[in-house]
This record gives sequence, C-alpha cells and structure tokens, in this order.
Amino acid sequence: MPRTRSRPDACPGAWRRHDAADGALARFRPVGGATTATELRLLAGAAAAGGSPIELTSRGSWQVRGLAGTTADDLADALRDDRPDALVDARGRDVPCSIIASPRSTAVDPVAGAVATGLRGRVDVPGRLLVAIEDRRSGSPATGRRQRRFPATEGDVSGQGGDITVVLPDDDGAALLLDGVDTGLRHDDPAVLALAAVDAFTTHRGSAWRVRELDDAARAAVGAELAEVTTPGVGTLEPGPADPTSLGTDGTALEVLPRLGEVDLPTVMALLELLDRGATLRATPWRTLVLRDAPADAAQRLRGLVETDPSSRWRGISACVGAPRCRKSLTDVRGDLAAAVASGHVGGQVRQHWVGCSRACGTPGGRVAVVEAETSGTYRTIVRSGKVNG
Ligand code: SF4
Repeated sequence: MPRTRSRPDACPGAWRRHDAADGALARFRPVGGATTATELRLLAGAAAAGGSPIELTSRGSWQVRGLAGTTADDLADALRDDRPDALVDARGRDVPCSIIASPRSTAVDPVAGAVATGLRGRVDVPGRLLVAIEDRRSGSPATGRRQRRFPATEGDVSGQGGDITVVLPDDDGAALLLDGVDTGLRHDDPAVLALAAVDAFTTHRGSAWRVRELDDAARAAVGAELAEVTTPGVGTLEPGPADPTSLGTDGTALEVLPRLGEVDLPTVMALLELLDRGATLRATPWRTLVLRDAPADAAQRLRGLVETDPSSRWRGISACVGAPRCRKSLTDVRGDLAAAVASGHVGGQVRQHWVGCSRACGTPGGRVAVVEAETSGTYRTIVRSGKVNG
C-alpha cells in the first residue's frame, strides 16, 4: 500500500538516542550480525550500568537501555576506537540502516562488509530500510543445514521482511528481491547489486521509508533504473521461512536463544569465554545467537543461561519491552508473557509477539500473532504478516 510519510524516520542509533522511561536507548547495527568480544563487553558493561541486559532486536541489532548521556557518548566513542569498520566507524558514523546476512555463511561476510562501507555516512538512506544478504548456494553452511532438517524450505534472512534482499544462488549471478519479490534482475557482484538497489530506491522514494510504501510510478522508476545495470532473468526465488530458528549444534556452529532477546551479564561472560577460545558471534534477526567455530562444550557452557534445546517453548516468542521501561505500556508485558510460557499456555508452534500498546514495537517479519494489551487488562490477538517495526 503506497504511503506518504510526513516526517523523517526517528530510528535510534549510536548517537541519535530514543528517550525512554528508563533513560536513553541506543541501538547498534552489527554488519551481518557480526559482534566481537570487545564490542560485546562494551555493550554489556554500558547496559549493566543502566540496570538492564543488552537486547537483540528483530533486525539483528543490539539495543542498550537506561543510558545516561555521558555513558552513551562514552560507549559510542569506545566502539569507534575498537574496530572502525564495525558498529561505529572511525569518523563516528553508524551504518544508516540494518544489514542482515546468513549467520552461518562466511561467503556473505565480505558482501555485507562492502554494502556497509558503501552506505556509511549516507543521510539519504532511511533507518527503516532493511537490506538482507543470503547464501542459498547448495552445500553452503546455511543451506546445507536447513536442507537436512527442513527439506521443504530454503533461505534464512530472505524471510525477514527485507526491502532489498540479495541472494547468492547456484546459478549465474546474484539475485535481487524487492520487498520479498524476485525481480528477475541479476548481477555478478552481490554487493554492487545491493548498493544499486539502495541507490535506485533513495532516488525515487520521495518520503517513503520502505520499498512497500512506493507508489506504482516510483516502483516502475526503480525497476527501470536497475534494469540498466543488471542482467534480466526469470524471477523464481521465494523468500525463506519467517522463523528459521534452528537451535542446537550442527557441525561447528551452535545456535542459542536468549529468552525475549535479553542477554544478561552471566550469559555475556559465558559467551566471552567461548569467543576467547576461537568462536565468532552473529546476532540474528530472529533474536538468536549463532556461534561459528564453537568449542565442543559450548552448548554445555551456555545451558541454563539461554535456550539450546530445539524443542524449547521460547522458540518464536518475543515481546516489546513493556512497563516499567516504556511509559506507553499498559502492563508488564514481558512478565505476563514469562508467566504464560511457564504455565504451559504459550509456546510451541505459533509465533507470537506480545506488546504493551498498539504501536507494536519490535514486531518481527513474516506471519506472526501479535498479542496486544488492552485497557481492560486483557490481551487481544491480531495476526500480522510481513511488517518489521524495529
Ligand atoms: S509497543 Fe507500546 S508499550 Fe511496547 S515498547 Fe512500543 S510503545 Fe512501548
């Protein structure tokens, strides 16, 4: 549905913070979810000072709450000094929008890095834009694993409601999906393809934040611009599943699920020990963590801190922050949800996102039941599809 926006987006970042009931909220967008031990330590330290865990978002970002102004500045400065190509660059610039990538695949790392380099510092890119880089080649760590467990499905980040998705397939050329629809357009270089799509979108977007908000004329102009720099093909790719969570160990990769996306200090300490032993960390937009090259005892070290069992009732369950940390919330959403899961009434097959008001912050992409608090003290359920609110 075409939509006209009357104001620029207000997505928080490292420097532009959101003023919440519990202090400033800063968001950091790891490129393809890649997070180093130093970054994890810095984020967790700042969050602990504000009395909160660090949080995973539905775009594979890290969120830190309860920050005082100077603490927030110090955190951004420290991250800039640590690794200039990551969360904040040497000039202090955030990546302007989220770039998610298949968390198990090393093939997407340089692509995501090149896209981030091309986007840093751009003020014409709305924070709501979501760029996804997916490795769907047969035999890749991402696809190979899913094919063994879920033979009917393929893909991971392509199912997350991205505006611009570039898929690395087996045949010639990377493929471009716009708002989940295969355009048929192909290019040898996946990073060039993604950046060309961002350029075409920003040129013709008007006030739109998302590809789905473009009207027909703008969509046609985007397509025409991209046709000049790509090779035409047949668009046959479908997006992957909305929830590609696959908890547990496979080969040397371990996927774990922090309940409600909250990563507390004991969990951070355990993760740091694993990173010190050679593992690397990826945050996913389905709010899990993937440890590549995880030591053999990694699941054991994390047991009790995060969900590691593929049959966990917490799989596919998320919530906005709710009261008391959001002043708009009608109730303690996370407390209510935890009680519902503990009682056995919630959890299992149906994806659910619980929210404290109709803004529905953090609603994940794909089909999901949004369970919304009402003034009457009860909840109502609305099935949504495709929208990602942040
Ligand atoms: S959905 Fe409402 S209650 Fe929940 S975080 Fe957003 S504004 Fe606050």
